[in-house]
Amino acid sequence: MRMLINGNLIDKDKKINVINPANNSIIDTVPFGKREDAKKAIHAANNAKKAMKDISSRRISRILYDIHHDLSKSLDEFATIITKETGKPIRDSKFEMERSLDTLLFAAEESKRIYGETIPLDAGIGGSKILGFTIKIPVGVLSAITPFNYPVNLAMHKIAPAIAAKNTVVTKPSHKAPLAALKLVKLMAPYLPDGALNALTGIGMVIGDEMVTNNLVNKISFTGSVTTGKSIAQKAGVKKLTLELGGNDPLVILDDANIDNAVTAAVRGSYVFAGQVCIAVKRIIIQTGVFDEFTDKLVSETKKLKVGDPLNSKTDVGPLIDEEAALKVENRVNNALDDGAELLCGGKRNGAFYEPTVLDRVFPNMELVCKETFGPIAPIIRVDDVDEAFKMANHTPYGLQASVFTESIEKAKRAVKSIDAGTVLINKESTFRTDNMPFGGFKMSGIGKEGVKYAVEDMTCSKLVIIG
Ligand code: NAP
Repeated sequence: MRMLINGNLIDKDKKINVINPANNSIIDTVPFGKREDAKKAIHAANNAKKAMKDISSRRISRILYDIHHDLSKSLDEFATIITKETGKPIRDSKFEMERSLDTLLFAAEESKRIYGETIPLDAGIGGSKILGFTIKIPVGVLSAITPFNYPVNLAMHKIAPAIAAKNTVVTKPSHKAPLAALKLVKLMAPYLPDGALNALTGIGMVIGDEMVTNNLVNKISFTGSVTTGKSIAQKAGVKKLTLELGGNDPLVILDDANIDNAVTAAVRGSYVFAGQVCIAVKRIIIQTGVFDEFTDKLVSETKKLKVGDPLNSKTDVGPLIDEEAALKVENRVNNALDDGAELLCGGKRNGAFYEPTVLDRVFPNMELVCKETFGPIAPIIRVDDVDEAFKMANHTPYGLQASVFTESIEKAKRAVKSIDAGTVLINKESTFRTDNMPFGGFKMSGIGKEGVKYAVEDMTCSKLVIIG
Protein backbone atom coordinates (compact mmCIF):
# COMPACT_ATOMS: atom_id res chain seq x y z
CA MET A 1 0.00 0.00 0.00
CA ARG A 2 1.09 3.57 -0.60
CA MET A 3 1.00 6.85 1.34
CA LEU A 4 -1.43 9.59 0.39
CA ILE A 5 -0.02 13.11 0.10
CA ASN A 6 -1.98 15.97 -1.48
CA GLY A 7 -4.33 13.54 -3.23
CA ASN A 8 -1.47 11.50 -4.75
CA LEU A 9 -0.46 7.95 -3.91
CA ILE A 10 3.25 7.99 -3.03
CA ASP A 11 5.64 5.06 -2.92
CA LYS A 12 9.27 4.72 -1.81
CA ASP A 13 12.05 2.31 -2.73
CA LYS A 14 12.58 1.47 0.93
CA LYS A 15 9.67 -0.45 2.45
CA ILE A 16 8.39 -1.60 5.82
CA ASN A 17 7.07 -5.16 5.99
CA VAL A 18 3.69 -5.56 7.65
CA ILE A 19 3.69 -8.89 9.47
CA ASN A 20 0.76 -11.09 10.48
CA PRO A 21 1.65 -11.96 14.10
CA ALA A 22 -0.41 -15.18 13.98
CA ASN A 23 1.89 -16.84 11.43
CA ASN A 24 4.78 -14.42 10.81
CA SER A 25 3.88 -14.06 7.12
CA ILE A 26 4.38 -10.73 5.32
CA ILE A 27 0.92 -9.43 4.44
CA ASP A 28 2.00 -6.33 2.53
CA THR A 29 4.56 -3.54 2.57
CA VAL A 30 4.24 0.21 3.10
CA PRO A 31 6.68 2.96 2.10
CA PHE A 32 9.37 3.91 4.59
CA GLY A 33 8.46 7.59 4.55
CA LYS A 34 11.07 10.28 5.16
CA ARG A 35 10.91 13.61 6.96
CA GLU A 36 10.56 15.30 3.53
CA ASP A 37 7.33 13.37 2.94
CA ALA A 38 5.93 14.57 6.24
CA LYS A 39 6.83 18.15 5.33
CA LYS A 40 5.05 17.81 1.97
CA ALA A 41 1.93 16.38 3.62
CA ILE A 42 1.86 19.17 6.21
CA HIS A 43 2.26 21.79 3.47
CA ALA A 44 -0.58 20.22 1.50
CA ALA A 45 -2.79 20.22 4.60
CA ASN A 46 -1.88 23.84 5.25
CA ASN A 47 -2.74 24.82 1.67
CA ALA A 48 -6.08 23.01 1.88
CA LYS A 49 -7.19 24.91 4.99
CA LYS A 50 -9.09 27.59 3.08
CA ALA A 51 -10.93 25.13 0.83
CA MET A 52 -12.05 23.14 3.89
CA LYS A 53 -13.07 26.25 5.84
CA ASP A 54 -15.22 27.45 2.93
CA ILE A 55 -17.35 24.29 2.78
CA SER A 56 -20.76 24.78 4.41
CA SER A 57 -21.59 22.81 7.54
CA ARG A 58 -24.54 21.31 5.67
CA ARG A 59 -22.16 19.99 3.00
CA ILE A 60 -19.60 18.72 5.55
CA SER A 61 -22.33 16.77 7.29
CA ARG A 62 -23.51 15.31 3.95
CA ILE A 63 -19.91 14.29 3.14
CA LEU A 64 -19.58 12.45 6.45
CA TYR A 65 -22.91 10.66 5.89
CA ASP A 66 -21.76 9.68 2.38
CA ILE A 67 -18.46 8.31 3.72
CA HIS A 68 -20.45 6.39 6.34
CA HIS A 69 -22.56 4.83 3.60
CA ASP A 70 -19.48 3.97 1.54
CA LEU A 71 -17.53 2.50 4.47
CA SER A 72 -20.47 0.39 5.67
CA LYS A 73 -20.25 -1.58 2.41
CA SER A 74 -16.72 -2.83 3.12
CA LEU A 75 -16.90 -3.54 6.83
CA ASP A 76 -15.84 -7.21 6.48
CA GLU A 77 -12.94 -6.36 4.19
CA PHE A 78 -11.60 -3.83 6.71
CA ALA A 79 -12.11 -6.23 9.61
CA THR A 80 -10.09 -8.93 7.86
CA ILE A 81 -7.19 -6.51 7.32
CA ILE A 82 -7.27 -5.46 10.98
CA THR A 83 -7.16 -9.10 12.05
CA LYS A 84 -4.29 -9.93 9.72
CA GLU A 85 -2.13 -6.97 10.70
CA THR A 86 -2.82 -6.98 14.47
CA GLY A 87 -3.83 -10.57 15.33
CA LYS A 88 -7.11 -9.27 16.77
CA PRO A 89 -9.84 -11.96 16.79
CA ILE A 90 -12.10 -11.35 13.78
CA ARG A 91 -15.18 -10.94 16.01
CA ASP A 92 -13.45 -8.03 17.75
CA SER A 93 -12.22 -6.53 14.47
CA LYS A 94 -15.81 -6.50 13.18
CA PHE A 95 -16.88 -4.80 16.39
CA GLU A 96 -14.13 -2.21 15.92
CA MET A 97 -15.47 -1.50 12.42
CA GLU A 98 -19.05 -1.18 13.70
CA ARG A 99 -17.81 1.28 16.30
CA SER A 100 -15.83 3.18 13.65
CA LEU A 101 -19.07 3.63 11.70
CA ASP A 102 -20.72 4.86 14.88
CA THR A 103 -17.90 7.38 15.42
CA LEU A 104 -18.38 8.62 11.87
CA LEU A 105 -22.13 8.97 12.36
CA PHE A 106 -21.64 10.94 15.58
CA ALA A 107 -19.31 13.27 13.63
CA ALA A 108 -21.85 13.72 10.80
CA GLU A 109 -24.41 14.74 13.43
CA GLU A 110 -22.02 16.90 15.46
CA SER A 111 -20.90 18.90 12.41
CA LYS A 112 -24.29 20.63 12.39
CA ARG A 113 -24.18 21.81 15.98
CA ILE A 114 -20.91 23.68 16.44
CA TYR A 115 -22.22 26.72 18.29
CA GLY A 116 -20.63 29.85 19.65
CA GLU A 117 -22.23 31.89 22.45
CA THR A 118 -23.37 35.43 23.12
CA ILE A 119 -21.42 37.34 25.74
CA PRO A 120 -23.34 39.81 27.94
CA LEU A 121 -20.85 42.64 27.48
CA ASP A 122 -23.29 45.03 29.13
CA ALA A 123 -22.50 43.26 32.40
CA GLY A 124 -19.04 44.85 32.31
CA ILE A 125 -18.04 48.47 32.77
CA GLY A 126 -18.43 50.34 29.48
CA GLY A 127 -20.09 47.43 27.73
CA SER A 128 -23.63 48.70 27.42
CA LYS A 129 -24.96 48.91 23.87
CA ILE A 130 -22.09 46.71 22.64
CA LEU A 131 -22.83 43.31 21.15
CA GLY A 132 -20.43 40.40 21.69
CA PHE A 133 -20.54 36.80 20.51
CA THR A 134 -18.13 34.00 19.69
CA ILE A 135 -17.91 31.97 16.52
CA LYS A 136 -16.16 28.61 16.34
CA ILE A 137 -13.48 28.36 13.69
CA PRO A 138 -11.36 25.36 12.68
CA VAL A 139 -8.07 25.02 14.52
CA GLY A 140 -6.28 24.36 11.18
CA VAL A 141 -3.85 21.52 10.49
CA LEU A 142 -4.22 18.47 12.75
CA SER A 143 -1.46 15.90 13.26
CA ALA A 144 -3.16 12.61 14.15
CA ILE A 145 -0.79 9.94 15.48
CA THR A 146 -2.24 6.55 16.41
CA PRO A 147 -1.12 3.23 17.98
CA PHE A 148 -1.41 -0.32 16.68
CA ASN A 149 -4.27 -1.66 18.76
CA TYR A 150 -7.41 -0.03 17.28
CA PRO A 151 -6.00 1.11 13.93
CA VAL A 152 -9.31 2.21 12.39
CA ASN A 153 -11.44 3.46 15.25
CA LEU A 154 -8.65 5.45 16.90
CA ALA A 155 -7.82 7.07 13.56
CA MET A 156 -11.55 7.72 13.08
CA HIS A 157 -11.73 9.40 16.51
CA LYS A 158 -9.31 12.01 15.17
CA ILE A 159 -10.16 12.26 11.45
CA ALA A 160 -13.99 12.37 11.69
CA PRO A 161 -14.25 15.15 14.31
CA ALA A 162 -11.46 17.04 12.50
CA ILE A 163 -13.51 17.02 9.29
CA ALA A 164 -16.70 17.86 11.20
CA ALA A 165 -14.92 20.99 12.46
CA LYS A 166 -13.52 21.72 8.94
CA ASN A 167 -9.87 21.06 9.75
CA THR A 168 -7.25 19.43 7.54
CA VAL A 169 -5.41 16.32 8.68
CA VAL A 170 -2.09 14.55 8.41
CA THR A 171 -2.34 11.11 9.95
CA LYS A 172 0.26 8.48 10.81
CA PRO A 173 -0.73 4.96 11.85
CA SER A 174 1.64 2.64 13.71
CA HIS A 175 4.20 1.01 11.41
CA LYS A 176 3.16 -2.30 12.99
CA ALA A 177 -0.43 -2.05 11.69
CA PRO A 178 -0.80 0.66 9.02
CA LEU A 179 -2.89 -1.09 6.35
CA ALA A 180 -6.50 -0.64 7.48
CA ALA A 181 -5.90 3.00 8.43
CA LEU A 182 -4.32 3.70 5.02
CA LYS A 183 -7.27 2.07 3.32
CA LEU A 184 -9.62 4.21 5.40
CA VAL A 185 -7.86 7.43 4.38
CA LYS A 186 -7.96 6.38 0.73
CA LEU A 187 -11.69 5.85 1.01
CA MET A 188 -12.34 9.16 2.76
CA ALA A 189 -9.93 11.55 0.97
CA PRO A 190 -11.71 11.72 -2.43
CA TYR A 191 -14.75 13.26 -0.70
CA LEU A 192 -12.60 16.22 0.42
CA PRO A 193 -10.46 18.90 -1.27
CA ASP A 194 -6.98 17.67 -2.33
CA GLY A 195 -4.55 17.85 0.55
CA ALA A 196 -7.28 18.01 3.21
CA LEU A 197 -6.57 14.44 4.37
CA ASN A 198 -3.10 12.86 4.09
CA ALA A 199 -1.66 9.60 5.40
CA LEU A 200 2.01 8.90 6.05
CA THR A 201 3.83 5.67 6.79
CA GLY A 202 7.22 5.31 8.40
CA ILE A 203 8.53 5.36 11.91
CA GLY A 204 7.41 7.67 14.65
CA MET A 205 10.84 9.03 15.50
CA VAL A 206 11.11 10.53 11.98
CA ILE A 207 7.63 11.05 10.51
CA GLY A 208 5.94 11.52 13.89
CA ASP A 209 8.67 13.91 15.02
CA GLU A 210 8.08 16.18 12.00
CA MET A 211 4.32 16.03 12.62
CA VAL A 212 4.94 17.19 16.20
CA THR A 213 7.57 19.87 15.65
CA ASN A 214 6.50 21.46 12.33
CA ASN A 215 5.22 24.99 12.94
CA LEU A 216 2.46 24.72 10.32
CA VAL A 217 0.72 22.15 12.56
CA ASN A 218 -1.90 23.74 14.80
CA LYS A 219 -2.99 20.78 16.89
CA ILE A 220 -1.58 17.37 17.77
CA SER A 221 -3.90 14.55 18.69
CA PHE A 222 -1.86 11.59 19.92
CA THR A 223 -2.92 8.19 21.16
CA GLY A 224 -0.19 5.85 22.38
CA SER A 225 2.20 5.11 25.22
CA VAL A 226 3.16 7.40 28.09
CA THR A 227 6.80 7.38 26.97
CA THR A 228 5.96 8.68 23.48
CA GLY A 229 3.32 11.06 24.86
CA LYS A 230 5.83 12.65 27.23
CA SER A 231 8.37 13.19 24.45
CA ILE A 232 5.66 14.74 22.23
CA ALA A 233 4.61 17.10 25.03
CA GLN A 234 8.21 18.23 25.43
CA LYS A 235 8.70 18.93 21.71
CA ALA A 236 5.30 20.26 20.66
CA GLY A 237 5.85 23.97 21.30
CA VAL A 238 2.82 26.27 21.09
CA LYS A 239 0.21 23.88 19.70
CA LYS A 240 -3.04 22.51 21.03
CA LEU A 241 -2.40 19.04 22.40
CA THR A 242 -4.55 16.02 23.19
CA LEU A 243 -2.79 13.01 24.71
CA GLU A 244 -4.64 9.72 25.11
CA LEU A 245 -2.05 7.56 26.86
CA GLY A 246 -1.70 4.26 28.69
CA GLY A 247 -3.74 2.83 31.52
CA ASN A 248 -3.48 0.47 34.47
CA ASP A 249 -7.17 0.07 35.14
CA PRO A 250 -8.31 -1.64 38.35
CA LEU A 251 -11.33 -3.92 38.72
CA VAL A 252 -12.30 -3.61 42.38
CA ILE A 253 -14.51 -6.39 43.74
CA LEU A 254 -16.02 -5.72 47.15
CA ASP A 255 -17.45 -8.31 49.58
CA ASP A 256 -21.06 -7.59 48.58
CA ALA A 257 -20.50 -7.79 44.80
CA ASN A 258 -22.49 -9.97 42.44
CA ILE A 259 -19.67 -12.42 41.79
CA ASP A 260 -20.97 -13.87 38.53
CA ASN A 261 -21.13 -10.39 37.03
CA ALA A 262 -17.65 -9.59 38.37
CA VAL A 263 -16.27 -12.76 36.78
CA THR A 264 -17.82 -11.85 33.40
CA ALA A 265 -16.26 -8.39 33.72
CA ALA A 266 -12.85 -9.82 34.59
CA VAL A 267 -12.89 -12.21 31.61
CA ARG A 268 -14.03 -9.53 29.16
CA GLY A 269 -11.78 -6.88 30.65
CA SER A 270 -8.55 -8.86 31.04
CA TYR A 271 -8.48 -10.88 27.84
CA VAL A 272 -10.08 -8.74 25.12
CA PHE A 273 -7.55 -8.41 22.27
CA ALA A 274 -5.14 -10.37 24.49
CA GLY A 275 -5.18 -7.52 27.01
CA GLN A 276 -3.63 -5.04 24.54
CA VAL A 277 -6.17 -2.33 25.26
CA CYS A 278 -5.53 0.90 27.15
CA ILE A 279 -8.70 0.30 29.21
CA ALA A 280 -8.21 -3.44 29.72
CA VAL A 281 -8.53 -4.65 33.30
CA LYS A 282 -4.89 -4.70 34.40
CA ARG A 283 -5.32 -5.25 38.18
CA ILE A 284 -8.03 -7.20 40.00
CA ILE A 285 -8.34 -5.90 43.56
CA ILE A 286 -10.55 -8.12 45.67
CA GLN A 287 -11.74 -8.28 49.28
CA THR A 288 -10.67 -11.55 50.85
CA GLY A 289 -14.25 -12.56 51.80
CA VAL A 290 -15.21 -13.29 48.16
CA PHE A 291 -11.77 -14.29 46.94
CA ASP A 292 -12.35 -18.07 46.80
CA GLU A 293 -15.68 -17.94 44.97
CA PHE A 294 -14.45 -15.34 42.47
CA THR A 295 -11.13 -17.01 41.77
CA ASP A 296 -12.60 -20.52 41.28
CA LYS A 297 -15.09 -19.13 38.76
CA LEU A 298 -12.52 -16.91 37.01
CA VAL A 299 -10.08 -19.80 36.54
CA SER A 300 -12.85 -22.04 35.22
CA GLU A 301 -14.04 -19.38 32.71
CA THR A 302 -10.46 -18.58 31.67
CA LYS A 303 -9.78 -22.23 30.84
CA LYS A 304 -12.80 -22.24 28.49
CA LEU A 305 -11.33 -19.53 26.25
CA LYS A 306 -10.31 -20.60 22.77
CA VAL A 307 -6.81 -19.42 21.89
CA GLY A 308 -5.73 -19.64 18.25
CA ASP A 309 -6.20 -18.41 14.70
CA PRO A 310 -7.65 -14.90 14.94
CA LEU A 311 -9.42 -15.31 11.58
CA ASN A 312 -11.54 -18.13 13.09
CA SER A 313 -14.80 -16.60 14.32
CA LYS A 314 -14.76 -18.88 17.39
CA THR A 315 -11.36 -17.62 18.61
CA ASP A 316 -11.42 -15.60 21.83
CA VAL A 317 -7.72 -14.81 22.19
CA GLY A 318 -5.21 -14.43 19.36
CA PRO A 319 -1.52 -13.51 19.38
CA LEU A 320 0.03 -10.34 20.75
CA ILE A 321 1.21 -7.77 18.22
CA ASP A 322 4.61 -9.51 17.91
CA GLU A 323 6.85 -12.01 19.67
CA GLU A 324 8.78 -9.24 21.41
CA ALA A 325 5.55 -8.11 23.10
CA ALA A 326 4.83 -11.69 24.21
CA LEU A 327 8.37 -12.07 25.58
CA LYS A 328 7.89 -8.90 27.63
CA VAL A 329 4.70 -10.31 29.15
CA GLU A 330 6.41 -13.67 29.81
CA ASN A 331 9.27 -11.91 31.60
CA ARG A 332 6.97 -9.88 33.81
CA VAL A 333 4.90 -12.93 34.76
CA ASN A 334 8.04 -14.97 35.51
CA ASN A 335 9.46 -12.17 37.65
CA ALA A 336 6.19 -11.98 39.59
CA LEU A 337 6.29 -15.78 40.13
CA ASP A 338 9.90 -15.53 41.35
CA ASP A 339 8.77 -12.86 43.81
CA GLY A 340 6.01 -15.02 45.31
CA ALA A 341 2.97 -14.75 43.02
CA GLU A 342 1.03 -17.98 42.46
CA LEU A 343 0.06 -19.25 39.00
CA LEU A 344 -3.57 -20.43 38.91
CA CYS A 345 -3.79 -21.09 35.16
CA GLY A 346 -2.06 -20.20 31.88
CA GLY A 347 1.48 -18.84 31.98
CA LYS A 348 2.83 -20.31 28.75
CA ARG A 349 4.10 -18.57 25.61
CA ASN A 350 4.26 -19.89 22.06
CA GLY A 351 5.80 -17.37 19.66
CA ALA A 352 3.59 -14.27 19.79
CA PHE A 353 0.80 -16.16 21.61
CA TYR A 354 0.49 -15.95 25.39
CA GLU A 355 -2.10 -18.00 27.27
CA PRO A 356 -4.80 -16.23 29.26
CA THR A 357 -3.30 -16.29 32.74
CA VAL A 358 -4.62 -15.90 36.29
CA LEU A 359 -2.14 -15.03 39.04
CA ASP A 360 -2.85 -14.85 42.77
CA ARG A 361 -0.82 -13.23 45.54
CA VAL A 362 0.27 -10.37 43.32
CA PHE A 363 1.70 -7.43 45.23
CA PRO A 364 1.43 -3.78 44.17
CA ASN A 365 5.17 -3.27 43.82
CA MET A 366 5.56 -6.04 41.21
CA GLU A 367 6.46 -4.73 37.74
CA LEU A 368 3.54 -6.76 36.33
CA VAL A 369 1.06 -4.39 37.98
CA CYS A 370 2.94 -1.19 38.66
CA LYS A 371 3.71 -0.79 34.95
CA GLU A 372 1.16 -1.12 32.13
CA THR A 373 1.31 -4.79 31.06
CA PHE A 374 -0.15 -5.32 27.58
CA GLY A 375 -1.05 -9.02 27.79
CA PRO A 376 -3.89 -11.45 28.64
CA ILE A 377 -3.18 -11.44 32.35
CA ALA A 378 -5.56 -11.32 35.33
CA PRO A 379 -3.35 -10.45 38.33
CA ILE A 380 -5.19 -10.68 41.67
CA ILE A 381 -4.32 -8.40 44.57
CA ARG A 382 -6.07 -9.27 47.84
CA VAL A 383 -7.19 -6.54 50.25
CA ASP A 384 -8.95 -6.62 53.64
CA ASP A 385 -11.39 -3.72 53.49
CA VAL A 386 -13.06 -1.11 51.30
CA ASP A 387 -10.66 1.71 52.19
CA GLU A 388 -7.66 -0.43 51.33
CA ALA A 389 -9.34 -1.43 48.04
CA PHE A 390 -9.79 2.19 46.94
CA LYS A 391 -6.29 3.11 48.12
CA MET A 392 -4.90 0.23 46.08
CA ALA A 393 -6.92 1.34 43.03
CA ASN A 394 -5.16 4.71 43.24
CA HIS A 395 -1.74 3.13 43.80
CA THR A 396 -0.60 3.85 40.23
CA PRO A 397 0.63 6.82 38.22
CA TYR A 398 -2.14 6.08 35.68
CA GLY A 399 -5.81 7.11 35.90
CA LEU A 400 -7.74 6.11 32.79
CA GLN A 401 -10.86 4.12 33.80
CA ALA A 402 -11.65 2.17 36.99
CA SER A 403 -14.45 -0.26 37.74
CA VAL A 404 -15.97 -1.25 41.07
CA PHE A 405 -18.34 -4.13 41.73
CA THR A 406 -20.64 -3.69 44.71
CA GLU A 407 -24.37 -3.97 45.44
CA SER A 408 -24.19 -1.05 47.88
CA ILE A 409 -25.04 2.41 46.57
CA GLU A 410 -23.16 3.95 49.52
CA LYS A 411 -19.94 2.10 48.64
CA ALA A 412 -20.45 3.00 44.98
CA LYS A 413 -20.71 6.68 45.93
CA ARG A 414 -17.52 6.37 48.03
CA ALA A 415 -15.78 4.77 45.05
CA VAL A 416 -16.76 7.63 42.74
CA LYS A 417 -15.39 10.13 45.28
CA SER A 418 -12.20 8.24 46.12
CA ILE A 419 -10.92 6.85 42.85
CA ASP A 420 -8.79 9.14 40.72
CA ALA A 421 -9.64 8.15 37.14
CA GLY A 422 -11.20 9.75 34.07
CA THR A 423 -14.12 7.32 34.32
CA VAL A 424 -15.40 5.36 37.34
CA LEU A 425 -17.67 2.50 36.31
CA ILE A 426 -19.95 0.80 38.82
CA ASN A 427 -20.78 -2.84 38.01
CA LYS A 428 -19.31 -2.59 34.50
CA GLU A 429 -15.81 -3.48 33.32
CA SER A 430 -13.36 -0.71 32.44
CA THR A 431 -13.19 -1.82 28.80
CA PHE A 432 -16.67 -0.37 28.26
CA ARG A 433 -16.69 2.61 25.92
CA THR A 434 -19.16 4.19 23.56
CA ASP A 435 -17.88 6.60 20.95
CA ASN A 436 -19.83 9.63 22.11
CA MET A 437 -18.80 9.53 25.77
CA PRO A 438 -16.10 11.89 27.09
CA PHE A 439 -13.08 9.62 27.14
CA GLY A 440 -9.68 10.43 28.56
CA GLY A 441 -7.66 9.82 31.66
CA PHE A 442 -6.16 11.66 34.60
CA LYS A 443 -2.58 11.65 35.87
CA MET A 444 -0.15 9.99 33.40
CA SER A 445 -3.04 8.65 31.30
CA GLY A 446 -3.25 11.87 29.38
CA ILE A 447 -4.57 15.33 28.71
CA GLY A 448 -7.95 16.19 27.18
CA LYS A 449 -10.94 14.15 26.09
CA GLU A 450 -12.00 12.34 22.96
CA GLY A 451 -15.53 11.19 22.12
CA VAL A 452 -16.80 13.04 19.08
CA LYS A 453 -18.45 16.08 20.68
CA TYR A 454 -15.45 16.64 23.00
CA ALA A 455 -12.91 16.16 20.21
CA VAL A 456 -14.79 18.65 18.00
CA GLU A 457 -14.73 21.16 20.85
CA ASP A 458 -10.95 20.73 21.10
CA MET A 459 -10.49 21.01 17.34
CA THR A 460 -12.03 24.47 17.14
CA CYS A 461 -11.01 27.91 18.38
CA SER A 462 -13.40 30.54 19.70
CA LYS A 463 -13.18 33.86 17.87
CA LEU A 464 -14.81 36.75 19.71
CA VAL A 465 -16.73 39.30 17.64
CA ILE A 466 -17.56 42.70 19.16
CA ILE A 467 -19.91 45.16 17.50
CA GLY A 468 -19.87 48.67 18.88
P1 NAP B 1 3.53 3.96 20.88
O1 NAP B 1 4.73 3.11 20.76
O2 NAP B 1 3.60 5.13 21.79
O3 NAP B 1 3.20 4.44 19.37
C1 NAP B 1 2.06 5.21 19.09
C2 NAP B 1 2.31 6.02 17.82
O4 NAP B 1 3.31 7.01 18.08
C3 NAP B 1 2.84 5.18 16.66
O5 NAP B 1 2.25 5.62 15.47
C4 NAP B 1 4.31 5.48 16.70
O6 NAP B 1 4.97 5.25 15.48
C5 NAP B 1 4.30 6.95 17.07
N1 NAP B 1 5.57 7.45 17.61
C6 NAP B 1 6.58 6.76 18.17
N2 NAP B 1 7.57 7.60 18.53
C7 NAP B 1 7.18 8.85 18.19
C8 NAP B 1 7.76 10.14 18.32
N3 NAP B 1 8.98 10.31 18.85
N4 NAP B 1 7.08 11.21 17.88
C9 NAP B 1 5.85 11.06 17.33
N5 NAP B 1 5.24 9.85 17.17
C10 NAP B 1 5.89 8.76 17.61
O7 NAP B 1 2.26 3.10 21.30
P2 NAP B 1 1.81 1.64 20.80
O8 NAP B 1 2.72 0.61 21.37
O9 NAP B 1 1.57 1.66 19.34
O10 NAP B 1 0.38 1.52 21.51
C11 NAP B 1 0.18 1.06 22.79
C12 NAP B 1 0.01 2.19 23.79
O11 NAP B 1 -1.07 3.04 23.40
C13 NAP B 1 -0.36 1.68 25.15
O12 NAP B 1 0.35 2.39 26.15
C14 NAP B 1 -1.85 1.95 25.24
O13 NAP B 1 -2.35 2.04 26.56
C15 NAP B 1 -1.94 3.25 24.51
N6 NAP B 1 -3.32 3.50 24.05
C16 NAP B 1 -4.03 4.50 24.64
C17 NAP B 1 -5.35 4.71 24.26
C18 NAP B 1 -6.19 5.80 24.88
O14 NAP B 1 -7.20 6.16 24.28
N7 NAP B 1 -5.83 6.33 26.05
C19 NAP B 1 -5.93 3.90 23.26
C20 NAP B 1 -5.15 2.90 22.68
C21 NAP B 1 -3.84 2.71 23.07
P3 NAP B 1 5.70 3.86 15.12
O15 NAP B 1 5.30 2.86 16.16
O16 NAP B 1 5.20 3.54 13.77
O17 NAP B 1 7.17 4.15 15.14
